[in-house]
Amino acid sequence: MKKWNTRVAIIGGGIGGLVMALQCHKRGIDCMVFEAVEKLEPLGVGINLLPHSVKILAGLGLLDELAATAIETSELAYFNKHGQPIWREPRGLAAGYDFPQFSIHRGELHMLLLRHAVAHLGAERILTGRAVKRFTTGVSHGGAIGGTRATAVFEHRRTGEEVAEVEADLIIAADGMHSTVRSTFYPDEGPPKYSGRVLWRGTCVAPPFLTGRSMMQAGHATQKAVVYPISKKLFDQTGNNLTNWIMELAVPTPSGEAPPKQDWSRQVDKSVFAKPFAGWRWDWLDVPALISKGGPAWEYPMCDRDPLPRWSHGRVTLLGDAAHPMYPIGSNGASQAILDTESLATALVDEADVERALARYEADRREATGKIVLANRGNGPDQVMQLAEERAPGGFKHVNDVIAQEELEAISARYKQTAGFAKSQVNQRT
Ligand SMILES: Cc1cc2nc3c(=O)[nH]c(=O)nc-3n(C[C@H](O)[C@H](O)[C@H](O)COP(=O)(O)OP(=O)(O)OC[C@H]3O[C@@H](n4cnc5c(N)ncnc54)[C@H](O)[C@@H]3O)c2cc1C
Repeated sequence: MKKWNTRVAIIGGGIGGLVMALQCHKRGIDCMVFEAVEKLEPLGVGINLLPHSVKILAGLGLLDELAATAIETSELAYFNKHGQPIWREPRGLAAGYDFPQFSIHRGELHMLLLRHAVAHLGAERILTGRAVKRFTTGVSHGGAIGGTRATAVFEHRRTGEEVAEVEADLIIAADGMHSTVRSTFYPDEGPPKYSGRVLWRGTCVAPPFLTGRSMMQAGHATQKAVVYPISKKLFDQTGNNLTNWIMELAVPTPSGEAPPKQDWSRQVDKSVFAKPFAGWRWDWLDVPALISKGGPAWEYPMCDRDPLPRWSHGRVTLLGDAAHPMYPIGSNGASQAILDTESLATALVDEADVERALARYEADRREATGKIVLANRGNGPDQVMQLAEERAPGGFKHVNDVIAQEELEAISARYKQTAGFAKSQVNQRT
């Protein structure tokens, strides 16, 4: 079994893990990435990067490459199930932020990060086919030279063979929603908490709608469509958009529990979810046409986990979805993982030892992300759609007949503040 020695070992080469690796490199911190899958591939569909996370990626020198491929989202627009407008607000540069909001294919974002990580760290420091099997937390008192270091053993998932071991001053577990490290820390936590709703995700090529750079959401808490374009390249070449769509329906399970892990992200026939959306044809968007045109549909139970009392034990800590998995509401999953990396990397440089760095990271990020998890359980900014449904299921002449403008404004402003991307929070720190 090959043995490695590094200052920081990152478990998981997803979005959070690779950004963390770039953060370490930028600060001259020696690090390695250990990823479970044998080959990192461009998986997923659309993902959003809010301006506060784009600011961090800009600091890593990625802004121009992102801008060349992602859509600079200019608007978030909510509609009821009849296609009537509830709330529209400018986003990113159009809203006066110093940094854009990007909508991008997750696979494209992931591969961009991988290219940079390989270029800076070297391919030999980003190891695939290494799934963490067990670890020791070490003792963090006394700095890098005091205490004992953390260790981790990795296996090859297909063969079960133990293939690598690492010893490090710090191990960062960025191993996602089904984190092995988190479940070792919290063995009684059980599976992710199921919201009773399922998402089906896909992409298709479609003409622009609304501003051409809008993210639209329609429906209410138990039936929702989300649609937004994700590729500037394709639009520039063809005038059409690679369009991300998400259809969401309430799907109660007898036990109220999430489907088993192996059923996540599986490809399903569109007939499973298409019928309830059949009438969602409006003069500005044809939802059934998007579903039927598109490529495959991927099923994803909407789950999260309760906020934790502690992320760090000894010299091992959690980051991204491993630390704070949240409903994909409010476009925060990737952005909050990226914010974690900035906080942790800064603390590692500023603080004298790992113990203090981890304490500062948790103080900065744990409660803040816990609030977003809980806000998303209340549908976050999407609650305007549920209010419209409850107050006017048959539709309205004007939204302000059923929801006051001040109420709409307050919901939007409150969520931005909670998630840390109010304009004053982002631009202030420029
Ligand atoms: C295949 C895939 C597709 C996705 N598609 C979308 C999408 O279309 N839209 C969207 O909004 N979000 C998507 N997500 C989730 C999104 O990437 C995250 O919510 C967000 O970016 C936070 O990133 P993260 O690094 O914490 O987690 P992730 O990006 O999920 O990365 C976790 C990484 O850890 C690895 N890993 C897991 N277990 C182990 C282990 N035991 N040892 C070592 N490595 C391990 C995983 O293989 C993965 O590469 C997807 C995630 C995955 C893994």
